[in-house]
Amino acid sequence: MNKETIVVIGSGPAGWTAAIYAARANLNPLVFEGAGSRTMIPGGQLMFTTDVENYPGFPDGIGGIEMMTDFRNQALRFDTRVVTEDIEEVDFSSRPFRLRSSGGQELLAETVVLATGANARWLGVPGEERLAQSGGGVSACAVCDGALPHFRGQVVAVVGGGDSAMEEALYMTKFASEVLLVHRRDELRASQIMQERALASEKMTFLWNSVVEEVLGDDVITGLRLRDTVTGERREVEVGGMFVAIGHDPNTGFLRGQIDLKDNGYVRLPTPWRTETNVPGVFAAGDVMDDYYRQAVSAAGTGCMAALEAERFLAHG
Ligand code: NAP
Repeated sequence: MNKETIVVIGSGPAGWTAAIYAARANLNPLVFEGAGSRTMIPGGQLMFTTDVENYPGFPDGIGGIEMMTDFRNQALRFDTRVVTEDIEEVDFSSRPFRLRSSGGQELLAETVVLATGANARWLGVPGEERLAQSGGGVSACAVCDGALPHFRGQVVAVVGGGDSAMEEALYMTKFASEVLLVHRRDELRASQIMQERALASEKMTFLWNSVVEEVLGDDVITGLRLRDTVTGERREVEVGGMFVAIGHDPNTGFLRGQIDLKDNGYVRLPTPWRTETNVPGVFAAGDVMDDYYRQAVSAAGTGCMAALEAERFLAHG
C-alpha cells in the first residue's frame, strides 16, 4: 500500500491552498479533488459562482470557475498529484492513517488535511438548479453574488427564516428595491436581534406560510410560483433574483466516528487559531470546519495554516 506524507481531501480554496503550501515545502502532496456529484463538483462551491468580486487581488473580479482553475494550476505547477475521486472511508485510529477512495484505491497517510467544504442546501424545485448554474439570478450566497449589477433596483426574494436568511435579506436591501422574505411558517427561526432588524427594515416584505414551487424564467429569473402552506392557494410573484438561505451541510459523512464533530456536523477544532483536530496529524481547513465566515479568502487562509501545521507536525511530531 502506498504511503503518502500528506493527503489533502477536497479541492476548493482551502484544499488547493494547502496543496500549494505543502508542495512548495517539498511534502509531495496528493490531492483527492472529488469525483463530482449533482451538488458538488471538484473546485467546490465557487464552481457555482459566476463572479467573485470580494477576493483581494482581483480588482475587476474573476469568474468562480476561472479562479478555481487557477488555484488548481498553481498547485500543479509545484508537482501536486491529483486524483479525481472522493475519499469514502478513513481510519484515523492509528498512524499512518488508512484511506479508501471511491475508485477503490487504498493508501496510507502520515498527515491529512480535511478540506471537503460544505454544500448549500437547495430547495430542489424546477428552474432552481438551471438558473443557479447559468448565472440567471439564483444563488445560495447573497454576500458572494448580491452586489452584482443585475440585482440593483430589482425586487428579489430570499428564502428561509433563520439567521442566514435575515442576514442575506438585510444585505440585499442595500441593492434591491424590495426584498421579499419567503418563509414556510409564520414564525422566524432567527435570533431575536436579527428578527428585529429584519422586521424594522422598510425595504423588506414578509411572505409568511409560503413555499416556492417553481422558479420561473428561461435565461434569467422572472418570478416565483408560490404556494400558501395553510390555504393551498398558488400565486406568482415577479422577482429579478432569488437567494436560497436554508442552511448548509458540511461534507463530513465519511468522518463520522473517526473524528470529533460538532452537533451541526462541522469538524470541531479544539484549539483557537489552529487547524489541528482532536486526532494528531489530521487538520481541517475551510468550510468543513467553518460554519461562521464561509468565505473563499478565509478558506484559503486556513488551508495555508493547515499545511504549515502539517509541516511542523511532520518535523517535530
Ligand atoms: P437554520 O438556522 O437551520 O435556518 C434554516 C431556515 O431555513 C429555517 O427557517 C428553516 O425553516 C428554513 N428551511 C430549511 N429547509 C427548508 C426548505 N426545504 N424549504 C424552505 N425553508 C427551509 O440555518 P441558518 O440560517 O443557515 O443558520 C445556521 C446557523 O448559523 C444558526 O445557528 C445561526 O444562528 C448561525 N448564523 C448566525 C448568524 C449571525 O449571528 N449573524 C448568521 C448566519 C448564521 P423552519 O424555521 O421552518 O425550520
